[in-house]
Amino acid sequence: MSIKLEHVTYTYGTGSPFEKTALQDVSLEIKEGEFIGIIGHTGSGKSTLVQLLNGLLQPTSGTVTVNGQDISQKSKAAMEMRHAVGMVFQYPEYQLFEETIAKDIAFGPRNFGLNAEDVAKRVREAMEFVGLDYDTYADRSPFRLSGGQMRRVAIAGVIAIHPQYLILDEPSAGLDPVGRREIFAEIQRWHKEKNITVILVSHNMDDISRMANRLIVLSEGQILIDGEPLDVFATQQDKLHSAGVAVPPVTEVLQYLKGRGLAVEDRVHTVDE
Ligand code: ADP
Repeated sequence: MSIKLEHVTYTYGTGSPFEKTALQDVSLEIKEGEFIGIIGHTGSGKSTLVQLLNGLLQPTSGTVTVNGQDISQKSKAAMEMRHAVGMVFQYPEYQLFEETIAKDIAFGPRNFGLNAEDVAKRVREAMEFVGLDYDTYADRSPFRLSGGQMRRVAIAGVIAIHPQYLILDEPSAGLDPVGRREIFAEIQRWHKEKNITVILVSHNMDDISRMANRLIVLSEGQILIDGEPLDVFATQQDKLHSAGVAVPPVTEVLQYLKGRGLAVEDRVHTVDE
């Protein structure tokens, strides 16, 4: 089970004066169970990449397969696989629109043709999953909640679709430190307990180094680095700098090396070479 990109190129506005190749010949496999952090300078291609993973964009050339199925097809199987990849956009709370929290979360599963009983079950389960008590919140308006709670409702709407892969684009943007910690604790819990494969786009290296077991650094539409985050921090600081990415404090890297019984000069493995 995996999402596979093979030689994927994506060009905006082909043939127009604004033509821009946002991704260039990217090949990548995201395996079930991974927790991947994607980082890169603004304009490096992050949001183009994640929108290709669930078929919101279709490659200009190359293929994207989910669990072996080419998702650009019009078939039912391709549609099902697109739905296996859930996407939480930045500031997802702006997409809330129903008058109650339960109705908002029900929107996705209802569109999949589930019966009322199954939809209700999914809503209850998704609410519990993101830490919102069903009896307290189901019939409340989503617009009277705090920012962090609104975001939980929006995420629950995606969880209710039962994605196997979950893409989160800057899920903590705009939240206060408590809200940030809570959201990340939740995401880690889902990853562990539900075995959801997480693809996290973030500007924050500290968040990625704490949570992800694989780091992908994009630069100018290509994968510059693909490796275990702390290995990367310890060994590829020059490349990170060249990609315009803030490098985490060196003390963390040193601690990591020490924990492995290594000296600073020791090189640990790198995946992309
Ligand atoms: P990131 O998410 O890393 O900021 P994007 O994937 O949004 O990067 O953008 C990659 C490149 O594609 C940038 O040069 C950006 O200007 C360009 N781009 C993004 N969206 C469009 C669009 N709709 N039309 C034209 N160019 C775009």
